[in-house]
Amino acid sequence: MQHEFSQLYAQALDKQDTLGHFREQFYAPYLQGKRAIYFLGNSLGLQPKNTQDEVMTIMEDWANFGVEGFFLGKNPWLNYQQKITPLLCDIIGAYNEELVTMNSLTVNLHLLMLAFYPPTATRYKIICEAKAFPSDQYAFQSQVKFHGFHPADAIVEVFPKEGTELITTEDITAVIEEHKDSVALVLFSGINYYTGQVFDIKSITAAAHNAGAYAGFDLAHAAGNIKLQLHDWQVDFACWCNYKYLNSGPGAMAGAFVHEQHLSNSNLKRLEGWWGNDAANRFKMGNTFTLTPTAESWAMSTPPVMLLAAHKAALDVFAAAGFDNLLQKSKALSEYLFFALNYINQPEEKFKIITPYNPDERGCQVSFSVHKNAKAVFDTLLPFGIFADWREPNVIRVAPVPLYNSFEEIFIFSELLQQILNAA
Ligand SMILES: *Cc1c(COP(=O)(O)O)cnc(C)c1O
Repeated sequence: MQHEFSQLYAQALDKQDTLGHFREQFYAPYLQGKRAIYFLGNSLGLQPKNTQDEVMTIMEDWANFGVEGFFLGKNPWLNYQQKITPLLCDIIGAYNEELVTMNSLTVNLHLLMLAFYPPTATRYKIICEAKAFPSDQYAFQSQVKFHGFHPADAIVEVFPKEGTELITTEDITAVIEEHKDSVALVLFSGINYYTGQVFDIKSITAAAHNAGAYAGFDLAHAAGNIKLQLHDWQVDFACWCNYKYLNSGPGAMAGAFVHEQHLSNSNLKRLEGWWGNDAANRFKMGNTFTLTPTAESWAMSTPPVMLLAAHKAALDVFAAAGFDNLLQKSKALSEYLFFALNYINQPEEKFKIITPYNPDERGCQVSFSVHKNAKAVFDTLLPFGIFADWREPNVIRVAPVPLYNSFEEIFIFSELLQQILNAA
């Protein structure tokens, strides 16, 4: 598509956008009386305006019914989970039974690793991406040590080839092949948080299975951002947080996926609690845990329903917009962002885009490394009302999300960046 670098052109794209009105369904920070340009949906998504009502409903039901709120009121708490999972199926590419909302991301990663990382003396390695998100690295290291192994030996990181930024699928499958007799688990993110690169979940899963290992994914930057088909791709397990692209609020309850083929497997090592027990027996207070073939049987505790309500409110907005429509707009937004960034990066190159241009290899986030005075360039953005993200040593990340960002915002940001870079 032939784009133009002008505000009028960007406004025209916004006029054609059938999802443009969703922007008004979100609160956004204001600076000097002007709505800020918020490109941080990859860090903490904005608050949907329906969230407060949804949470207040729980508060009112609690006030009016006390413990009977589990059974009475608009959305009885007992079955609140079941109101959420159908809204997630499309976004995650999973069946109801394979999904559960519980705990937070790193906790779920640990719980699922207990099941899918049962190392033996000979098969004990975890293969993961180099520079995984720190919390994931700590989880891998502590799991390995928990089982009596040494991280230096048991954790195998896949690096990009010398002189390149991105890890290719071939790099990954080659490492899996090399360790095929000792790998227990292959665990990647769906999208690398730093580069914005999408990993080929389907191929990585197939390679892991070929080597006799499980395949798990941390989808923190992928859930709600790209098309996922976890069930069809035969992914063994996955987890993600809901406060980034899924707009469910700071510290939102997190998601977990366990593939259908594992749901009846009582040999998987798991930690259990009463809330995972079969609902028919849950309140009989007996001493036997009855496994049901659903991911919900992984939940342990009474869910914090106020947090579930915030999650449901956010998912209702996704459902109203339609996830495929959002993905289409997302592609168009980031396509225009690539165009605008390339446009302002001439004649002299002032920064380098590290996110892959191929739309199949990225979500909405674009990361670029600034050659000169990078931190000063970044620090100039916020006073102009632009929320972007800084990563050491010189990377700026921007994530225009389809629910509340516009083409015009991309133009305004790019034009301002051009001026800042020229002055830097
Ligand atoms: C955001 C993020 C986390 C954060 O984990 P919490 O347990 O929610 O604090 C972990 N891993 C990745 C890959 C992330 O992007």
